[in-house]
Amino acid sequence: MTKREIYEKAFNILDHRRQEALVAAQKRREEVIAKVPQVLSMEDTMSQSVIRLTKLVLAKSADLSEVMPKIIEENQRAQGKIKELLLAHHFPSDYLETKFHCSRCRDTGYVEGERCDCLKMLVRKIAAEDFNHSTFMSLCSFQDFDLGYYRGDDNEKMKQIYQFCRSYAASFSLQSPNILMMGNTGLGKTHLSLAIAREAIEAGYTALYGTAQDFFEKIQNERFGKGEEGVNTTATVMGADLLVLDDLGAEYDSNYNQSTFYHILNSRLNAGKPTIINTNLTPKQLETRYGARAGSRLMTLYKCLKFCGTDIRQQNLCRK
Ligand SMILES: [Zn+2]
Repeated sequence: MTKREIYEKAFNILDHRRQEALVAAQKRREEVIAKVPQVLSMEDTMSQSVIRLTKLVLAKSADLSEVMPKIIEENQRAQGKIKELLLAHHFPSDYLETKFHCSRCRDTGYVEGERCDCLKMLVRKIAAEDFNHSTFMSLCSFQDFDLGYYRGDDNEKMKQIYQFCRSYAASFSLQSPNILMMGNTGLGKTHLSLAIAREAIEAGYTALYGTAQDFFEKIQNERFGKGEEGVNTTATVMGADLLVLDDLGAEYDSNYNQSTFYHILNSRLNAGKPTIINTNLTPKQLETRYGARAGSRLMTLYKCLKFCGTDIRQQNLCRK
């Protein structure tokens, strides 16, 4: 998706929201007028008084400064009467107001010429969805994670990890801690992190999933002008509410990849946005590969979950 396509999609969604709000308000209005026709005459009185006072100003028989307070006062009085009428007929007092999805920009995407937060959020969300499109996120859930694969002591430890992930997902917010999932391949790290990402998305957050190799490559291509036009992976990676960086350590070992990782780690910590990192490497190996600074950040600022068991390939379950 190009940047233009992402914005087009965002504006289509805003248009749709706005239309929906207007249609719903119109419907409520018709419902009210059918039951309480007096509302119409109240509105009529209101517009009549505005017209009358405007005429006075135009004919120069009155000043705008004296007329304005009167208009406001009459308007408020009529509004108050309408609210009384609504309540008397068992409607909520704000029943006639148009309820926009975003009251700040009234679903236009702009406030005083500036992009509204709701538009920025939509753009981030669409970009993340576009990125996740090719992953199997929608196929992984907590329900199909089978603890029966883990035996003995492993079962007890994995049960705790599973419970932790479930409640983490259920209460996910921007204040949620970072997670470092450690352990050998095939123990369910990808599965549980995707299940968390899925629930975060369902709760309205933007979540981004990819392998370290994926992200590093895309960011590198972009830096050297080989990226797809308009797609800003760096911004998408930094802007996502939740980032799942899978399989750290499986990527090609290079200075470039090491510094890209450090940059992502550090920027997300500074931005205060939760990240989940999965790796087969041990703490010692992480430190050797990504440096002492990265290693100590991971060990102190991430909640460490140590997966155990024998390779049970939980991933196979969610891969089709
Ligand atoms: Zn808005």
